[in-house]
Order: sequence, then structure tokens, then C-alpha cells
Amino acid sequence: MDLLKEIILKEASIMTSDVLKLDAVLNHQVDPVLIMEMGREFARRYAEASITKVITVESSGIPIAFATALTLGVPLIFARRKKTLIADPDAFSERVPSFTKGIVTDIMVSRQFLTPADKVLFIDDIIANGDAARGLIKIIERSGAELVGLGIVVEKSFQAGGRTIREQGIRVESLVKIASLDNGQITFE
Ligand code: 5GP
Repeated sequence: MDLLKEIILKEASIMTSDVLKLDAVLNHQVDPVLIMEMGREFARRYAEASITKVITVESSGIPIAFATALTLGVPLIFARRKKTLIADPDAFSERVPSFTKGIVTDIMVSRQFLTPADKVLFIDDIIANGDAARGLIKIIERSGAELVGLGIVVEKSFQAGGRTIREQGIRVESLVKIASLDNGQITFE
């Protein structure tokens, strides 16, 4: 998406050679018109897949997943980050390390929202090492639902997440791929 590349070049800042600050685009402020554009693009790429539900992880994936679900005309589920130590027997949960926060969090989805009848599209904001995505993929697999594919806004392709998930045979569609953040420069693939 060329428009998204332009906006990233204008609004993003490089924190380290691994981390791009995207607060003005994805993580703290969003432009609803741009978000709807992204949602329509994911919906277009997966139009033939008979998706029954869109799923994401709270919180930054929610606006894009909402736009995608609205366009496809299906419900949106967002995996919640669990803040309690009490195990919920009615939920699927997975422990995932957080790339930016340096902590582990538990993500959970209630069993009532994912069933073997579902064909699920997983939308997320950014993929780095793929830990968050792998956690949610395990939950989807355990539920018996079919994972049709992933839609990622920004894939940092110099990190292994997108590649390793494709190697598992899962379709991954990214709107932009960043090949490097070296030398204070954003280089798209
Ligand atoms: P992963 O689990 O793939 O290593 O990291 C995915 C999550 O970490 C993303 O959903 C995002 O919230 C956060 N993240 C990873 N890399 C970056 C980055 O360069 N910039 C920002 N803003 N968040 C990132």
C-alpha cells in the first residue's frame, strides 16, 4: 500500500535498529479513513475465503480488525490480555512474550466465540518475531476453528515472525514490509 508507506515515512520514528515507533499511525492515534482503507484491502485479499470471524489481540489490532470485519460483514473477536491469575476454565489461553514491553502476558479467548465451524482471519498491527501471533494461532488451532490466514499492517521482514509462520504453511498478507531500519532509515522491501 503506497499511501501507507508515505504515511509511515512521514509519521514514524526509528527507536532502535529493531523498533519503529508508530504511535501516530497505529499504536496511540489512528486515522479512521486510513484504517477503513486497510480493512477494505484485507477484506479484498481474503474475499474468496468464506471468512466467518475476524480475530485480533487487544489493543492496537482492534481498529484494523474492526474495519476488516465490518467490510466482510462478520463479527470481530479480540483476544484479551488477561490480568488475573485465576484460570478461566471456559477460555483458551496462551502465554506470550511481549516484544516491546519485555514482559510475558497471557492472552485469552472464551470458548463460546471460537468453534470448529469458524473460518478465521487473524489481523494484527505489527509482526516482529511472531510470538504474539504464534500464541493466538495456537488458541485458534486448539478451538478447532480453521485459520484462513493472517493480515498484518507492518511486517518487519528482517525479523523472523512472518517468514516462520509462512513456513508453517499459513498464508500471511502484509500491507507493507520493512526490510531494514539500519542507519536511521526506513527501507521497504
Ligand atoms: P512479536 O510478537 O511479533 O515479536 O511482536 C508483535 C507485537 O509487538 C506487535 O503486536 C506490536 O505491538 C509489538 N511490536 C513489535 N515490534 C514493534 C515495533 O517495531 N514497533 C511497535 N510500535 N510495536 C512493535
